[in-house]
Amino acid sequence: MAGELVLIVEDKEENLELVRDLLQAHGYRTLEAETAEAGIALAAAHHPDLILLDIQLPGIDGMEALRRLKSVPDTAATPVVALTAYAMPRDRERLTYAGFDGYMTKPISIKPFLQQVQDACAGVRRKA
Ligand code: MN
Repeated sequence: MAGELVLIVEDKEENLELVRDLLQAHGYRTLEAETAEAGIALAAAHHPDLILLDIQLPGIDGMEALRRLKSVPDTAATPVVALTAYAMPRDRERLTYAGFDGYMTKPISIKPFLQQVQDACAGVRRKA
């Protein structure tokens, strides 16, 4: 269960580095993008097993990026988990309704984060 390719789309460098280092330390391969536009292009080119998508991004945001990813055959079936600072019940509902396969609240907690990545790569869908 190692070696899965995870695309991280996150504009805050320290968050991106933390997530990347954690994933790589646990045997995952990573791709990184700091904008949704770049992330969508990487996803189409590399077919990651999982996309971790920040919601607040420069340019198009994570909600619009999800719509675009889900509307293209190449990435329609790829699990997408939101990385979000939002944690209110209404926000969770909004993410679920938008079609995210799960969400993670920042700052992340290491063990739940790794468990959720593992589950998402295995196709376990979590309701937000
Ligand atoms: Mn952000």
